[in-house]
Amino acid sequence: MIDPFGRKISYLRVSVTDRCDFRCVYCMAEDMTFLPKAELLSLEELDRLCSTFVRLGVRKLRLTGGEPLVRRNIMSLFRNLGRHLASGALEELTLTTNGSQLGRYAGELAGVGVKRVNVSIDTLDPAKFAAITRWGKLEAVLDGVFAAKAAGLEVKINAVALRGVNDEAFDQMLAWCGEHGFDLTIIEVMPMGEIGPQRVDQYLPVSLVRADLAKRWTLEDTDYRTGGPARYVTVRETGRRLGFITPLTHNFCESCNRVRVTCTGTLFMCLGQEDAADLRAPLRASADDALLEAAIAEAIARKPKGHDFIIDRRHTGPSVSRHMSVTGG
Ligand code: SAM
Repeated sequence: MIDPFGRKISYLRVSVTDRCDFRCVYCMAEDMTFLPKAELLSLEELDRLCSTFVRLGVRKLRLTGGEPLVRRNIMSLFRNLGRHLASGALEELTLTTNGSQLGRYAGELAGVGVKRVNVSIDTLDPAKFAAITRWGKLEAVLDGVFAAKAAGLEVKINAVALRGVNDEAFDQMLAWCGEHGFDLTIIEVMPMGEIGPQRVDQYLPVSLVRADLAKRWTLEDTDYRTGGPARYVTVRETGRRLGFITPLTHNFCESCNRVRVTCTGTLFMCLGQEDAADLRAPLRASADDALLEAAIAEAIARKPKGHDFIIDRRHTGPSVSRHMSVTGG
């Protein structure tokens, strides 16, 4: 799959549910309306959809959400998709999770061939963690992280930078990640979905976080890339990597290799644009995958050049109307 700008699409992210057991203040409004279950693709349909993408050239597959590990029987999907790892068709099967259920599933995930997991933690202060996630308990998440480590999974921690909320969290997080052998990525908040508070009040440019950390830590540039939007440095004091994802201060679309599918089978060719393609209708229209493949090809042919996220006092509304939980970050 090659898009109009010559970018090879080899990475698919699938949001397997829009539901989550947390309500992070920058991600969701407190009273979210979720999709009726009937709208969702079944786990068998998600498998068929993912397998079609793998056949078309996807080499990396990430399940996300919502919270992927709260979808009932989600491990059956992981188990089934594991066959593409075994056959060599897929290089990597992974997930982004809030960690709340990792304690239960880490061993099984490792068993089906998952090697890495991204866990979202914005602070190591339990009270602040509870305030940011509204419903989350840091202790359960840390148990999950250590269960993942014990199961042999490589753990990367993702933290969203929030002005006036976790500006001071990153020294402790860098030290903790160093101590336990985790990489850390710091992400700028993106203007997605109505969440109540003003985005401009949450927005903390990651360049400021980096400049501040550089006063106390030796951040050495590296050309390490994962094919994703993060730019990495190595922290000399810990030997671990620190990544920065800066959709607002640095546009990273030129190397974009990914597309996203929601739990209803809607394909978004860009996280920061509204254009989408319905894959559920062609998926359900026939047991043969020809219609589905044609719909995917047609959509890839209109993948846009990039997003135009803006957060400032003149642009207070969201750049895109859907919440991050729809497409899973
Ligand atoms: N529930 C899982 C988790 O917490 O990682 C997966 C879904 S969550 C939507 C994926 C990632 O998106 C998390 O790291 C979360 O912090 C991040 N995220 C959510 N809303 C965001 C926003 N508006 N801007 C930047 N990152 C956001």
